[in-house]
Amino acid sequence: MSVTPACVLLVEDELPIRRFLRPSIDAAGWRLVEAETGQRGILEASQNRPEVIILDLGLPDIDGIEVVRRVREWSAVPIIILSARGQEKDKIAALDAGADDYVSKPFGVGELIARVRVAMRHAARQAQPSADATIVAGDIVIDLPRRVVTRCGQEVHLTPLEYKLLTTLARHAGMVMTQRQLLREVWGPGYAEESTYLRMFVRQLRQKLEKEPSQPRYLLTEVGVGYRLRLE
Ligand code: CA
Repeated sequence: MSVTPACVLLVEDELPIRRFLRPSIDAAGWRLVEAETGQRGILEASQNRPEVIILDLGLPDIDGIEVVRRVREWSAVPIIILSARGQEKDKIAALDAGADDYVSKPFGVGELIARVRVAMRHAARQAQPSADATIVAGDIVIDLPRRVVTRCGQEVHLTPLEYKLLTTLARHAGMVMTQRQLLREVWGPGYAEESTYLRMFVRQLRQKLEKEPSQPRYLLTEVGVGYRLRLE
């Protein structure tokens, strides 16, 4: 019995970028489906049910953000945005619309492939929530059923909001979350603009969890976008 390879859908109008990515996606053992327009991308997404979508924002027909919105109406497939410099606002809007991560152009292909792997793992975890009861980021361990966080084996006392912020990042571990997403999920819909709260709580968490809070290894800032919890 042969195992069906995971499918990656690449929605990108620039042929050189598609050509550049093909060999690495092949080498990873995934099946690649390509689409040159947003409309075509939505169609291919519905027909091929890819494990991950890599989506360029600047498409010739419809906006990449619109593609995210349309796909999210019926699918939770991880979406990784390819964004060019100068598309900061669009990048954040795409993440807020339901994209999961982004890679900025010009990008290293190794970086993109690693992000696709993280997204596939994330999707697999979502499908089996019980496998996800403990989250490990280096020497930080989050035991979700017991609501206990340890660092180097020592229990760390977190306030309820600090814990909620950490577990929200952990649920999306390895992927970026925008400031707005975090504020909405942790504080509530009325707090989406209160980025000073978020900065303050991230600082507190780093002080409690990072060996060197000013040079964090796990609670990473994505400048101008949000935060990412790195697992390793
Ligand atoms: Ca483009």
